[in-house]
Amino acid sequence: MSFCDLSKKTALITGGSRGIGYGIACELSRAGAEVFLVSRNEERLTEAVQRIQESGGTAHAFPLDVSHPDAGQDAVKFVIETAGRLDILVNNAGIARDNLLLRMKDEEWDAVIQTNLRSAFFFTKAAMRPMMKARWGRIINISSVIGLIGNPGQANYAASKAGLIGLTKSAAREVASRGITVNAVAPGFIETDMTAALSAEQVNEIKSRIPQARLGNVADVAAAVRYLSSEESAYLTGQVITVDGGMVMGG
Ligand code: NAP
Repeated sequence: MSFCDLSKKTALITGGSRGIGYGIACELSRAGAEVFLVSRNEERLTEAVQRIQESGGTAHAFPLDVSHPDAGQDAVKFVIETAGRLDILVNNAGIARDNLLLRMKDEEWDAVIQTNLRSAFFFTKAAMRPMMKARWGRIINISSVIGLIGNPGQANYAASKAGLIGLTKSAAREVASRGITVNAVAPGFIETDMTAALSAEQVNEIKSRIPQARLGNVADVAAAVRYLSSEESAYLTGQVITVDGGMVMGG
């Protein structure tokens, strides 16, 4: 068996249609896992699933809005009915609605908290039951370095990502004795649709703060998630792994 082999495992990835989530789905599929992708846009989601199937993987699409209170339960039910088990949950779906705090609208605050944080509560709660029964599970929350250091104009986003870290550590303590690990990955600036809107000037300013002097790519994050999904990471729980080219180093 190869290092971080995920054959016979099933993985549910929110926001799996593009960007980091799609990269994670491809990596877990390459490692042998059967993958379940959820996101809102059905056409994009179906295309993502088809691409994974064309490369020899087993993938399924389940379109939904993760901020809906029933989303977690519905998605987990679909996975269990289809595959009979759920081993890995990746809470990745996320949005940004940037504004300075003084100008931030209630809707901008609520949309980000509901999509990025409340959804992880729904999905984690739903996934924990089958994982506890199986006495094995891996839950990985995609946070952000912004949740660790804050960012002007991103109070809602930073709060949601810091909240995910608190959720991660509390859940990790609750289920540690059941063979389930819960960890967070905090990416730095990664090249996806989310960062595509940054101007060349902004990108240069960001690079000047990164010791490796480059933005990350989806594969950098996906590799960390593959490790956290595997048997080999069994003794690692309640941690935040920053994948950021050295931008934020713990003190
Ligand atoms: P992205 O390219 O914008 O992709 C976001 C994904 O989430 C899409 O699949 C999107 O699909 C899905 N999504 C958004 N809202 C949803 C909802 N309400 N229900 C279901 N699915 C939803 O973003 P990304 O850059 O890959 O980011 C992925 C995660 O990494 C996010 O949590 C983000 O905060 C985090 N992150 C990103 C960076 C970065 O630099 N890119 C850095 C740190 C952390 P639909 O639109 O079709 O629903």
